[in-house]
Amino acid sequence: MRLSAYFLPTMKETPSEAQIMSHRLMLRAGMIRQSSAGIYSWLPLGLKVLERIKTIVREEQNRAGAQELLMPTIQSADLWQESGRYDDYGKEMLRITDRHDRNMLFGPTNEELITDIFRQAVRSYKNLPLNLYHIQWKFRDEIRPRFGVMRGREFLMKDAYSFDKDENAARISYNKMFAAYLRTFRRMGLKAIPMRADTGPIGGNLSHEFIILAETGESEVFCHQDYLEKDVAMDPIEDPEALQAYVDAWTCLYAATEDMHDASQYDASVPKESQINARGIEVGHVFYFGTKYSEAMNAKVSLKEGGEAAVHMGSYGIGVSRLVGAVIEACHDDNGIIWPESVAPFDFGLIKLKAGDANLDTACDDLYCKLTSLGWDVLYDDRDDRPGAKFATMDLIGLPWQIILGPKGLAAGKIELKRRVTGEREEISIEDLLNRFGEKQGGA
Ligand code: ATP
Ligand code: MG
Repeated sequence: MRLSAYFLPTMKETPSEAQIMSHRLMLRAGMIRQSSAGIYSWLPLGLKVLERIKTIVREEQNRAGAQELLMPTIQSADLWQESGRYDDYGKEMLRITDRHDRNMLFGPTNEELITDIFRQAVRSYKNLPLNLYHIQWKFRDEIRPRFGVMRGREFLMKDAYSFDKDENAARISYNKMFAAYLRTFRRMGLKAIPMRADTGPIGGNLSHEFIILAETGESEVFCHQDYLEKDVAMDPIEDPEALQAYVDAWTCLYAATEDMHDASQYDASVPKESQINARGIEVGHVFYFGTKYSEAMNAKVSLKEGGEAAVHMGSYGIGVSRLVGAVIEACHDDNGIIWPESVAPFDFGLIKLKAGDANLDTACDDLYCKLTSLGWDVLYDDRDDRPGAKFATMDLIGLPWQIILGPKGLAAGKIELKRRVTGEREEISIEDLLNRFGEKQGGA
């Protein structure tokens, strides 16, 4: 993409309405614009990151055996009346009436709708286990939408729903998602800590929130420092016992969020010198809730041993749009964003230092074409602007690699290659650059 033609409305000034770094940087880097409180438009640069995050989420859901479908944003109130949540949900639910005076709503989550789809189609344990997910916009009329996409009113969520014949089988489904979540966040360059979460009135202990440590996080977290060093298994573990052992190893250290924190229990289980009390951002939530919805909505399956029973369910959310902000909170410096390569909107920024130099034009155009044909996504700053402004823009939008080419370098046959994360610079020939990066693996 040539920057001269790209819609990238960057801002020099720090927007006064933004309180935290990720919100400021997303506005300044031209990634989002607010349309009304907690509701945003995603501009081209922001949308690219959102799509890359979606792709990682989708790939890991599929690898864990979940199947993608797509449910609508607008739902009928009837199903929510069946489950009893239509009245319970309160003001966070955006309620709508259609022209026939039917009660509709903009979905804040999808347990009811997926249970309805399930009960219409599945009658036997033979069709289980089943895990269905979608990546869809949600609406929750949050009292205090803030921090940009971190706590929006409209936000993008991946929500998966598992169906099993009994609690033991449901635990396997839960563990698969648990392991998939660790892989998902690790691929985005994040360290996510699974925190035991409150299961509320339903009880049980099968609920974890996945938290990214960040000073501006809204959750207070307590955990053992060993969490920060633990290894993530990057391939799915198929054997149920091995999977259980892996999940146990991840959850044996005491970790909890503020809402369920019992100080005495915590102090007893973790030595003082190993304790971390920090703040974090919730990026995912896995939850086993048994037969809560299947009982209320009569979603039953026939059993092998005869008779029928309400299906056991779990739900598994990831805050896809919140993750864009969370990655920035975890990866930035004073000059701007520092994208991990796996979610960066472009792989390279190519800076042409001077306009109106025919040789330089040819060399830059040529390099741009070569990198592009090798599958790399390149943002080519071909504008007629001061070098200082170009450097500042590139640092702000945080692409992993910057290639800087000017008349002097060209005469010496060298480009300058800057790595955004370390700031390291090196001079190498164009040929060496192309050999070093070669074809993009798994690229376009
Ligand atoms: P929170 O405690 O932050 O309000 P929640 O417990 O209500 O979140 P869930 O119902 O578990 O959220 O939703 C799954 C995921 O969706 C959360 O882990 C979070 O990453 C994301 N999410 C929830 N609410 C919002 C929001 N208002 N804006 C952006 N992302 C959100
Ligand atoms: Mg939650």
